[in-house]
Amino acid sequence: MKYNDIDFTTYFKNYPDKDGYFGKYGGSYISPELQQAIDEVTAAYKTISKSTKFISELRRIRREFQGRPTPISHLDRLSSQFNGVQLYVKREDLNHTGAHKINHCMGEVLLAKYMGKKKVIAETGAGQHGVALATAAAYFGLECDIYMGAVDIKKQAPNVARMKILGANVIEVTEGLQTLKEAVDAAFAAYAKEYKDAIYCIGSVLGPHPFPMMVRDFQSIIGVEAREQFVGMTGELPDAIVACVGGGSNAMGLFSGFLDDPVEIYGIEPLGRGTTLGDHAASLKYGSEGIMHGFNSIMLKDENGEPAPVYSVASGLDYPSSGPEHAFLRDIGRVKYDVISDEETLEAFFMLSRMEGIIPAIESAHAVAYAMKLAKTMDKGSILINLSGRGDKDMDYIIENYGIR
Ligand SMILES: *Cc1c(COP(=O)(O)O)cnc(C)c1O
Repeated sequence: MKYNDIDFTTYFKNYPDKDGYFGKYGGSYISPELQQAIDEVTAAYKTISKSTKFISELRRIRREFQGRPTPISHLDRLSSQFNGVQLYVKREDLNHTGAHKINHCMGEVLLAKYMGKKKVIAETGAGQHGVALATAAAYFGLECDIYMGAVDIKKQAPNVARMKILGANVIEVTEGLQTLKEAVDAAFAAYAKEYKDAIYCIGSVLGPHPFPMMVRDFQSIIGVEAREQFVGMTGELPDAIVACVGGGSNAMGLFSGFLDDPVEIYGIEPLGRGTTLGDHAASLKYGSEGIMHGFNSIMLKDENGEPAPVYSVASGLDYPSSGPEHAFLRDIGRVKYDVISDEETLEAFFMLSRMEGIIPAIESAHAVAYAMKLAKTMDKGSILINLSGRGDKDMDYIIENYGIR
């Protein structure tokens, strides 16, 4: 299928290009020492990840450890609210550890093992990436250093405990605002020093090349499975697919299975409390081109051109940029990006829980809320939602701040 001069039948061969660009977005903007380390990862990824041994080992792990394939569920009771439109969810919440992040963590750490590395290094904000990576490191018997801002360590005690139980070292970062940005800087600095024995593992389709490509490729299992399952269940493709976008990994995973199909694709960003800078994290909707954390994309900037403070009820969506491939797909119009507020998200969180017996992650509830809005504008057809994770991690926060509705 051609779309705005981009040929999607050969898309994955051509995007990103050899320097890691999706159009003008992506690339690698890092120090020479770090570039040397990352070149080694790019070379290893190109050869190792294409070997039959690697592919069959990852396949076995997904089946026997992760619980893949994850099913698609038809939302029977919720769909009955919308005149003829059928809603479905891809159940990434049923992965081991309760979300999609394990899809790329198992791939990244398997690659580390094949490269002969002894340690994996990463940062984490809310702790979800740290937990998924610590799980993968424990499985493969590698050391795991997780850099985390001191403020986040206080806020995310249960995830800090999980990482420690799984055997990871949680390293407190006390620079600056002591949150995600400083943790990224600290993890990059550690990696530049330790790259002979260690590999850096990013948490989404972000960072310098090859990470946006690598994470997309590992997450694409979501879209590959979902397409086959959906056609098997219904005999046709969905009319629309919807996923929430923080960095954009669960969305790229689902979307990559449908880019070459006549399917409407929606990426949903958090509008938080409203459109004022600082009250949301909707970078693709309100941001502009800029470089941060080693890649060129669309980002939210403050008056000095630095990454702006962002907010969302969903800590997994709370990032001032999105992956370069999303910026590209936005510009060419293949994917439509829209926003959902905290308030709409909470309503969807309780609707899905009450009507279907599925408590969604508050991140995923953004996609559910948008699908319900979209369904109201349609008179027939089907919508497939990516349920990126389960909501157990969010229950205390929601009860404390919003009560039972
Ligand atoms: C981390 C997280 C997200 C956001 O990350 P993406 O890279 O945008 O997918 C979404 N949902 C859940 C459940 C998460 O843990």
